[in-house]
Amino acid sequence: MIENLIVQKFGGTSVGDPERIRNVAARIKSYHDRGHKVVVVVSAMGKTTNNLISLATEVADIRPKREMDMLLATGEQVSIALLAMALHSNGVDAISFTGSQVKILTDKNFSNARIEKIDTKVLENALNRGTVCIVAGFQGVDIEDNITTLGRGGSDTSAVALAAALGAKECEIYTDVDGVYTTDPNKVPEARLMQKISYDEMLELASLGAGVLHSRSVEFGKKYNVIIHVRSSFHYSEGTRVVPEEQVMEKLLVTGVTLKNDESRISLTDIPDRPGIAAAVFEVLAKIGANVDMIVQSTGQNKLNTISFSVLRKDIDECEIALNLLLKEWGTGLMSIEKEIAIVSAVGVGMKSHGGIAAKMFNAFANEGINIEMISTSEIKISCVIEKAAGEKALKLLHKVFELEKSVT
Ligand code: ASP
Ligand code: MG
Repeated sequence: MIENLIVQKFGGTSVGDPERIRNVAARIKSYHDRGHKVVVVVSAMGKTTNNLISLATEVADIRPKREMDMLLATGEQVSIALLAMALHSNGVDAISFTGSQVKILTDKNFSNARIEKIDTKVLENALNRGTVCIVAGFQGVDIEDNITTLGRGGSDTSAVALAAALGAKECEIYTDVDGVYTTDPNKVPEARLMQKISYDEMLELASLGAGVLHSRSVEFGKKYNVIIHVRSSFHYSEGTRVVPEEQVMEKLLVTGVTLKNDESRISLTDIPDRPGIAAAVFEVLAKIGANVDMIVQSTGQNKLNTISFSVLRKDIDECEIALNLLLKEWGTGLMSIEKEIAIVSAVGVGMKSHGGIAAKMFNAFANEGINIEMISTSEIKISCVIEKAAGEKALKLLHKVFELEKSVT
């Protein structure tokens, strides 16, 4: 257990240019000067990772995942070295480490590796000497010493996993937004910055496209009880803390609402109503790697049935071809596709103990003449598929109906 330990992660925008790197160094220095032991995790500068991917695409058609990880990991290596230098120039003793130097051990799943174990010895030794440790985010090493990466946005996960391994209570994630909002403030100006949100709510929001945190970082936080503080690197105000459910004082029914715009709906009607049909459909989709989200099946009639589901729009053409083959095989069934849909969702742990949320949501849509095409729910989420054109209106409506603009004290 290290006294006064703090883990801070700075995203790509926060270290996007020399001046920002110097600003980050000044912030780290202020914590160091106040007696904190600081571990810093950084992402690659600005758009570096994207640029490296484009570069690889220009050079080669065949890009083995191992070599992609070797390439992408260089981005973070640049930022850790520069940040360490900036700290030295501020009179702060600092040392940078790659994932493999720390020994962030992962599985062998290149480009989407999972952290299995973190050796804390190197870091603890440096921290105990009063040295600031700067660790490359997003990367690890497998058992055979190959460099691996954790998936896009994975530096958050590096940071929270390090905080867990080192026994830190809180992990600060510095980013280019002020924290987590009740909805996207660009779409709904009344959106409010939340002080606290539970891990499960954050996970639902992340899966619904509110891309503030890498999902796996929230899973780590939940499992090891690390509070994740999402805050801006451009000022000193507090942001949003992701905490265990019992610490959320705001007992709201709904905490946040989201809108997803990048999906399509496929309906298969008059398909056979017998065992193995759904399995066949989703096996075909899994084979092409399509990302299926909502699934609705009705009860069969006259030995025929209907299955509808949503997939990412980018996968729709491939899905259509594959499913047409399947319908041909069966000799029955029709496919209809709605290319542009919107998925509007409400999320909140309050739903566990309160009824009537779904009714409130459906009523609000009914009053505005918004037709609901599909519905899916979890313990803490209700999602509706509606026509794309009504998406933003529905989002604003839900924000208002659930009174999310009201500040809670
Ligand atoms: N640099 C990596 C990316 O752009 C990791 C991260 O930013 O968290 O995905
Ligand atoms: Mg990032």
